[in-house]
Amino acid sequence: EREIFRRRTRRSAELHAKAGGLLAGGNEHVDPLSSPYPLFLDHGDGSEVVDVDGNTYVDCILAGGAILLGHNDRELTAAIRDLLATRTGFHGHLDEYEVLAADRICRTFPAAESVRFTASGAEANLAAARIARAYTGRKKIVKFRGHYHGWGDQFMVDLEVPGSGAFMAGGVPEEHYADTVLVHPHRIDELADVLAAGDVAAVISEPLGGESGLVPFPDDFHRQASMLAREHGALYVFDEVVSGTRAGVGGAQARLGVTPDLFTLGKGLMNGYPGCGAVAGRAEIMNTAVIGLPSGGPFAYLGGTMSGNTLSMAACLHTLGAITRPGALSAAIGVASDLVTRLNELFDASDTGFFAYHFGTIVKIEMTAPHVLDAGRPENVEPIIQRRAVLADYMVPVSNGGVLSRMGRDMVSLAHSATDNEKVVNAYARLIEFLG
Ligand code: PMP
Repeated sequence: EREIFRRRTRRSAELHAKAGGLLAGGNEHVDPLSSPYPLFLDHGDGSEVVDVDGNTYVDCILAGGAILLGHNDRELTAAIRDLLATRTGFHGHLDEYEVLAADRICRTFPAAESVRFTASGAEANLAAARIARAYTGRKKIVKFRGHYHGWGDQFMVDLEVPGSGAFMAGGVPEEHYADTVLVHPHRIDELADVLAAGDVAAVISEPLGGESGLVPFPDDFHRQASMLAREHGALYVFDEVVSGTRAGVGGAQARLGVTPDLFTLGKGLMNGYPGCGAVAGRAEIMNTAVIGLPSGGPFAYLGGTMSGNTLSMAACLHTLGAITRPGALSAAIGVASDLVTRLNELFDASDTGFFAYHFGTIVKIEMTAPHVLDAGRPENVEPIIQRRAVLADYMVPVSNGGVLSRMGRDMVSLAHSATDNEKVVNAYARLIEFLG
């Protein structure tokens, strides 16, 4: 399969060799485990992308989940083209798109009363931590092990390159995360102990579980945990960078019926356009980020030349408009659900032990038995994450079968259909045959 891959992707191999000398690390922003080398893509349309060698794939990676409506969504592309005739952004001033986008967020997410845009999901989480600290006057941020909140120093506490044991926090002095307290997912008792010290500004989590649901939380965990946090004067923060536009309309907060004090958005919010991030929540808390508070209280400075950029705002407005159209997102979730059913039929007929599940349009394919997801067993968390190292190699036959997948975290867009599912199932059948 590797040979087949090499033969049909010669141009990608050339570009990869060239990138090695020019881009630090060769391919900084793709999965370091891309095997034998990452593909270079040329264009995309709907659910499909075409690489520089002319191979077409059903795209289940979707720019790390950022493509939500599908590639080159016609209406969005036309809207951005129109805007480009007159503007690219006016940092230092406002235009109406920022207000319209914020209004749309507040009407879509139960916890949103007030919004501040950032240029990425990582920045949104840094902003949330800063606002929480300024608002509470406390230092500590509680983070769940294995949850990813971007590459800010304070979050680089427990992240390893999957399977390698290599710690990713080189260049981050310990004192930069000295106020980040790690707790095991699912351990409400551990969380209660940490909160009892009375110095926690915020508890942050990916609400579906680390890596968009790799190890889901038990039912009712967030309700209990958010109550505990508030009892102890801490804010409860959801990182909805992925889940916000993929778990269902209104994100994980709507799905779980738990309203966080603050939450962050990114990725799918702008269908792949850059300058994509936002922090939102209760107005009283968000106002900590306002210069010249009437109270004269602590002020959380947030900057960003590209934050709230006109083109990003127009993309946000259009994307949220498209997914809140009646039935639009639920149709895509239906496609994800159908994919999961069909994949599980395939997996059940094999002896691989693979299984699939989904949260909204986030599709998880795991190479381990479902019992490992037993929420009461935190010791299961790390083995699952480590298993992902093996998965990169498995993606070679899947890619040869015409599908781009990352197995651990796949995505479906509003442009995906039953025909795409057919191709995905066939590509996985090829993998199973290969593992034979
Ligand atoms: N939070 C979560 C849950 C994410 O998955 C990511 C990106 N993978 C981020 C934050 C960081 O977002 P960005 O890459 O836009 O900085």
